[in-house]
Amino acid sequence: MFRLILLFVLLAVSLYAVKLWQRGRLEKTKKPLTKSTQSQKMVPCDECGLHVPEQEAIKIGDNNFCSLEHAKPPK
Ligand SMILES: [Zn+2]
Repeated sequence: MFRLILLFVLLAVSLYAVKLWQRGRLEKTKKPLTKSTQSQKMVPCDECGLHVPEQEAIKIGDNNFCSLEHAKPPK
């Protein structure tokens, strides 16, 4: 009876070790999440100061604007 328990414990421990090893391998292969956010440059709107992605900002000369409303010259 004691042998059976010992065998069961050994099996459980080895399964646990394999699980930990697989998890460690998965974490090593994961890509860094910061890569996508770093490529997007934020620029402040010259009218209201709101930060918008450079691709979405409206550029007039050296100035960046968040919307067409703010890009219009004041009347
Ligand atoms: Zn604005």
